[in-house]
Amino acid sequence: MVMMVAILLMMVAEGGGDGVSSFHPLKMELHPRSLLPVGVRFPFRPLVGMSQQHHSLIPFIKSRLLMKHPTSRKYFKTSISCLSEQLNVPQETNESTAKVIYSVAPAMGHNKAAHPECSSRVPAIVTALEKMHLTPKFRGSEIIQLQNFRTATVEDIMSVHSKSYVFGLEKVLQVFLTLTEAQNHRYKGTTRMNSFLLVFVADKGLHESLFKAMEQASEQGLIHIDGSGPTYATATTFEESLVAAGAGLSLVDYVVEASRISENPPVGFALIRPPGHHAVPKGPMGFCVFGNVAIGARYAQRVHGLKRVFIIDFDVHHGNGTNDAFYDDPDIFFLSTHQDGSYPGTGKIDNIGCGNGEGATLNLPLAGGSGDVAMRTVFDEVIVPSAQRFKPDIILVSAGYDGHVLDPLANFQFTTGTYYMLASSIKQLAKDLCGGRCVFFLEGGYNLDSLSNSVADSFRAFIGESSMATKVDDLGFLYDEPSLKVKQAIQRIKHLHSL
Ligand SMILES: [Zn+2]
Repeated sequence: MVMMVAILLMMVAEGGGDGVSSFHPLKMELHPRSLLPVGVRFPFRPLVGMSQQHHSLIPFIKSRLLMKHPTSRKYFKTSISCLSEQLNVPQETNESTAKVIYSVAPAMGHNKAAHPECSSRVPAIVTALEKMHLTPKFRGSEIIQLQNFRTATVEDIMSVHSKSYVFGLEKVLQVFLTLTEAQNHRYKGTTRMNSFLLVFVADKGLHESLFKAMEQASEQGLIHIDGSGPTYATATTFEESLVAAGAGLSLVDYVVEASRISENPPVGFALIRPPGHHAVPKGPMGFCVFGNVAIGARYAQRVHGLKRVFIIDFDVHHGNGTNDAFYDDPDIFFLSTHQDGSYPGTGKIDNIGCGNGEGATLNLPLAGGSGDVAMRTVFDEVIVPSAQRFKPDIILVSAGYDGHVLDPLANFQFTTGTYYMLASSIKQLAKDLCGGRCVFFLEGGYNLDSLSNSVADSFRAFIGESSMATKVDDLGFLYDEPSLKVKQAIQRIKHLHSL
């Protein structure tokens, strides 16, 4: 059942199968912003020939589609209000003292019980920041939480993703939302509801059994949106993914504007989910829906005129989506360190870009067991010289915390101190090379303790306080790093990229 839904969404994502360009499951004209939190408009057009009994359900369907997810609304209420047309600009009062600015987009409605990429992740970080006195309440203007940020537009998303994927996902999730809400309102199983929806859903050859599969999936409140099954969606996923991407874009706005009036702009940190670096241009993948960092890179170019973007991806998994988005682009340098052989199996060392972009992609797979020593060496011998040669206008970071030794999904041995070092060193690199313009985007990290401690220590690095790593890390977990393999990999990458 779920697999059938997955197949449908793969068809949508890949632009193949039944023909995505003609995929109109709802037979509606949908405004690109129809799921945005503000200015929602729903240009509903009933099908010609629809029977009266179908019309009787329209108010219900319409009201369901306009309703926002109550949980996420409640969470966001005090933390953000989305302003679509307004750039966030630094205020003069805090221009000289702000050292870190962060945005929070926890996607509380995008949740699956027992899934590692669950809705507890961002709240765990926020709670840790509060507990460790790393919020504006305790730090005045040194640490800023961006309260008003924009939601990404569909146009922003389509700077990286195909139109067929973005609109297909929106439409499928609208059907799904309708079905989910119908389940909640006792329309479940009624002939009227089924026949009404089938008029829409079956219009372009969507088989009745597929519709039933989606209806059953709606009982669980989620569907799988890629073929291998790790990526799920709920009725609020589309909207919340736009909010997440927008939270990153607004930090780009703020940091870039701050760099115009200060030599030491704050580092941005987007505490967002779902993550993004596996999402490929034509579809979702590996827990990821939209490529947040890639969208941020295109946005920095398009809106702020920053030509050269350097992306560092230290998530334990290869950022294949970002890799693919810029593989032939000489102006966006993508550098990924990742565990050799881990998901999704891409990012081989000799994948260095193609065409004009040859040499502007650097993939460094490291043996399982690599840890703090490996990463410090890689930073000094690979990341720094690559960035110095590239001469970026801004550095964006895919900040994944699943390389921590306690993380359940992979086998690196990073510690909280490793992430402190990365945060501190990347901040310095941005200061040396591109006016301090730097924004971190949260990617993976699935042990809530190591995730939140590591992000908190990253904040300490940004504000110039000493690390608390020795207080939270139990080094008894560590074993010898594969130093010979790491050394060989570094030699090979230096040779390949003439470093
Ligand atoms: Zn990861």
